[in-house]
Amino acid sequence: MYRTGLGWDLHRLQEGSGIPLGGVLIPCPWSFVAHSDGDVLLHALTDALAGGAGLPDIGELFPDTDPENKGRDSREMLQVVLAAVRSKGWELVAIDAVVVADEPRLSPVKASIRASLAELLELDEDDVGLKGKTREGLQGPEARSVEATVVVMLRRRQEEKHG
Ligand code: MG
Repeated sequence: MYRTGLGWDLHRLQEGSGIPLGGVLIPCPWSFVAHSDGDVLLHALTDALAGGAGLPDIGELFPDTDPENKGRDSREMLQVVLAAVRSKGWELVAIDAVVVADEPRLSPVKASIRASLAELLELDEDDVGLKGKTREGLQGPEARSVEATVVVMLRRRQEEKHG
């Protein structure tokens, strides 16, 4: 038995000294405007996992009104949700992600982000899809932001099916 999960997130950029994406700190003249560390890719991924397993969404699990979540490491939120997904009897098969940003450019850091995601999720890199897209020079308030969409595939663990 299979399930899919879908997650999306966006954070605005402000002047700064780097942004986390997929658990990798990317040096650039920007930082995220965010309550947590703002890692949009991990937020979209976490929401996709939660959605696929029928768990509450990331905003309900880690409300931004809770001071405990201020500056919170998104890798930690991902691990909490991944553990909850597994304890509900699901295993992660594969993910596919699209990151939309004019800046920073994804191509120079794509391989390290993919490796980071594979490590965080205990997947082979072959099971981690990642595409970088731009806004094709469209101007507007959203030009200064990074956006991520992630789909995940979950499979019911064998022992759960017969147990
Ligand atoms: Mg977010």
